[in-house]
Amino acid sequence: MARWRRARRGNTAAETATATVVAARRAGSLQRKLAIATAVGGLCTLVLAALVIARSFGTFMAARQNLYDVSAYRGVLDAANVLSAERGPANSVLGEAPLADSAARARLRAMRALSDAALQRLAAPPAPPFGLHSHHLPPLMVERVRERLQRARTEIDQLAARPLAERDMDAIRLAIESMFDVVDMLQPAIAWQVRELSACHEGLAAPALTGKMLGDLREYGGRIASQIMAPVAARQPMPVQSLVDATRSRGRLLELWQLAGPAYNMFGESPALEHAYADTNHQFFGQGMAMIDSLVAQGRVSGRYSMTPEELTNRYVRTLEPLERLRRVFLDEVVAHFTATRAQALRELAAACGATALILAVLGYILVFAQRSVFLPLLRARAEVIGLAEERGHPDYTAPPALVTRATEMRPLFDAIDILRRKLRERASLTAQLEHQARTDSLTGLLNRRALELVAARYPAHNSASLVLIDVDRFKQINDRHGHAAGDEVLREVATLMRALVPPDSVLARFGGEEFALLLPHGRPGEAAAQAEALRAALARGPVRMPGGKSLHVTASFGVASGHGGARHWQQLFAAADAAMYRAKAEGRNCVREAQSNAGAPAA
Ligand code: GH3
Ligand code: MG
Ligand code: MG
Repeated sequence: MARWRRARRGNTAAETATATVVAARRAGSLQRKLAIATAVGGLCTLVLAALVIARSFGTFMAARQNLYDVSAYRGVLDAANVLSAERGPANSVLGEAPLADSAARARLRAMRALSDAALQRLAAPPAPPFGLHSHHLPPLMVERVRERLQRARTEIDQLAARPLAERDMDAIRLAIESMFDVVDMLQPAIAWQVRELSACHEGLAAPALTGKMLGDLREYGGRIASQIMAPVAARQPMPVQSLVDATRSRGRLLELWQLAGPAYNMFGESPALEHAYADTNHQFFGQGMAMIDSLVAQGRVSGRYSMTPEELTNRYVRTLEPLERLRRVFLDEVVAHFTATRAQALRELAAACGATALILAVLGYILVFAQRSVFLPLLRARAEVIGLAEERGHPDYTAPPALVTRATEMRPLFDAIDILRRKLRERASLTAQLEHQARTDSLTGLLNRRALELVAARYPAHNSASLVLIDVDRFKQINDRHGHAAGDEVLREVATLMRALVPPDSVLARFGGEEFALLLPHGRPGEAAAQAEALRAALARGPVRMPGGKSLHVTASFGVASGHGGARHWQQLFAAADAAMYRAKAEGRNCVREAQSNAGAPAA
């Protein structure tokens, strides 16, 4: 039965050890899994964030490019507009006497400077900002326009240098038409840019085309006046060519107005554009066209015009103002629209970056929090519970250093572990107390017989041992004469006296009743007997003091035997000592008797 229990205990220990190894492996794999899941989650978030940010960044860069392209395109349209506007003072100069310092000549010089600057900007544009590409005009296109402009100016200057009377009407018309050629030469460049922009981004096509049409409106609006300027300047009837040209321009103007006019709300409500549209309708298509029509009528009838070229220019140019404003405001709106689009794209990019950073931060926080406040405490609690179950780590059940966790949900778990630890500590102390009680004689505080037998059994069988049995003489009489309590006191005093005299490596026990035993961890009979004799003499020498002041004379009889340790030899050793003790009793008490031969010696 005992063997079965031992085997069962062995099995349980082995099972616990195996369970611990399995649990440790599981903890390792759990942590590895958490790390892998964390890495995969983080990677997926990063990829997702990169996709979103890349998209937003692409939109932002496209918006930047669009704004840059629209601004550059506006530069070309403005240059065409300045070249058109140079025609006004040129016409005036052709219609006046060759004075060096007239107002018209001063205006012409200023306009020419503006045209040169505009063409110079087209010829040598600044490098595009970082990350953008440019659709600048091919330099050859700009160069051709410049050459043509130079020739037209030379023609105008030569004609204007002659006296008024010497200026032929056809020569004036040709000089004016040479300025038309300059603007016409810029048209392919503008068309080229419209194509480039439309191919680059479909959203640019409509504003680019409308901008071109509004520019053309301004151009033909000016051109129609120039076409009738020659007969007006020469004060001659309107030739057929001028009539045809003016009629053609008129048709083209109405056509362009039908196409481009309604574009005033391309980007939603715009009061400035609506005003410019209404003013153009009223001033240019109303008053300006009526002015042209009446001059054409005068030219066809008589050649006597109601206005000089200077008056025509000044009055007519005023009606062109809303048309010019319409063109300018529309291009301002286009640039403003693409500026707002770029700002919106930048806000979206910032929002995408911010949201990504926030998501990553929250993810990181959740991970760190879960690791620190849940996962690690759980692993720690698990280790502690396993440690408590296996009674290892903290044999006295002292608590390990407190774990700092911010998750309040984990506290009750650790409180429960603390309660478990306290209960185990209490149980351990109770067990120790019970074990002590089971070993100890309560009257004398010495080991009891059972404990002595266990000690003897633990001695190695090949080591020698001696046993001295001690029996108080005529103890029954002490009880009878002085009472049982006095008898107990005597037993306590005898124990105290002997405990003070026995060697430290020996074991003194109360064997039962008034009998004691001394186990010596060596088998030298002479020495054991001498030890017994010393005890006997000490007992016999001094009276035992009693609580009431009385003292009693107590002696004891001693039986000594020597042999081997271990459970196997105990009975033999005991029997021999007992026999020797009985001999001491029989031979007069208060004496020491040794067993005849070496007791408990293994059989030869
Ligand atoms: P002997 O010299 O032959 O040994 O005579 P004895 O009287 O000592 O021997 P006996 O065996 O006749 O008597 C032992 C007595 O010890 C009997 C019992 O009442 C008493 N006794 C046993 N245990 C205790 C105890 O714990 N306390 C007290 N007071 N007496 C005890
Ligand atoms: Mg006895
Ligand atoms: Mg006795």
